[in-house]
Amino acid sequence: MLLGAHVSISGTIDRAVDRARELKCTTFQLFTRNPRGWKAKKLKKEEIEEFKRKMKEYGYGLAVSHMPYLPNISSPLIQTYKKSLSSLIEELERAGELSLKYLVVHIGSHLGKGLDIGIKKAAESVNTALSKVNNDVVVLLENMAGQRNSVGSRFEDIKRILNLIEYPDRVGVCFDTCHAFAAGYDLRTREAIENTLRDFDEIIGLRLLKAVHINDSKGDLGSHLDRHEHIGMGKIGENGFRELFHNKYIRDLPLILETPVDSRGNFATNLAKCRELYI
Ligand code: ZN
Ligand code: MN
Ligand code: MN
Repeated sequence: MLLGAHVSISGTIDRAVDRARELKCTTFQLFTRNPRGWKAKKLKKEEIEEFKRKMKEYGYGLAVSHMPYLPNISSPLIQTYKKSLSSLIEELERAGELSLKYLVVHIGSHLGKGLDIGIKKAAESVNTALSKVNNDVVVLLENMAGQRNSVGSRFEDIKRILNLIEYPDRVGVCFDTCHAFAAGYDLRTREAIENTLRDFDEIIGLRLLKAVHINDSKGDLGSHLDRHEHIGMGKIGENGFRELFHNKYIRDLPLILETPVDSRGNFATNLAKCRELYI
């Protein structure tokens, strides 16, 4: 079972590995820098070594990086686009330095200029970044909740981006359960999950599915609300996650929580719930 959470890098980046271990995660996700700013200090050689040393010592094989919040690789605005592309290049390099297998990227927003432009920009960003950075990191496009102007909430949109990618072996998909549900893909029953994954397979191909963000959803099916909820407390519900964890296409993938931390729960409680539903 590859189960983990998005852990904080507060302090030094190797502390993320400690936090994952304290939570008894078998995989984890992190930001390689403060996710709320554009600028990041270069990773020092000692930081990288300490991170990798702990990964090895604690027995972690696979960890996932997530792009910071501000970049929008689908942006039609030239300045934002350029800054976002620089971030993508930088994050791809950093993930490589830290030996992280995947870099998860939100596809972004076309800001009202239309899906066609957003798709073109997203593909252009990924192609340019991959042409400039040559390492083993695989870029995972994350499906979106379908908020206004978002690109990549429909499997068809993701497929159109993937069709434009010039490095097919260096891209895949990270499936966020909250985003998918909010976008209208039902996950509440075994049958619904099978239908959703059949769609995914027919349109994108399940071999491209590399990781799953397991988040319950505050919003209803098709609400387009990107509001994560504790596992079992949202609109997908316990049954949905039990069935997801028993689905053969999902069960063995890296499963990563991005659930809230509040008075009703935290990563420890959500991890416990997942382990209970996984059996
Ligand atoms: Zn995300
Ligand atoms: Mn996510
Ligand atoms: Mn989200």
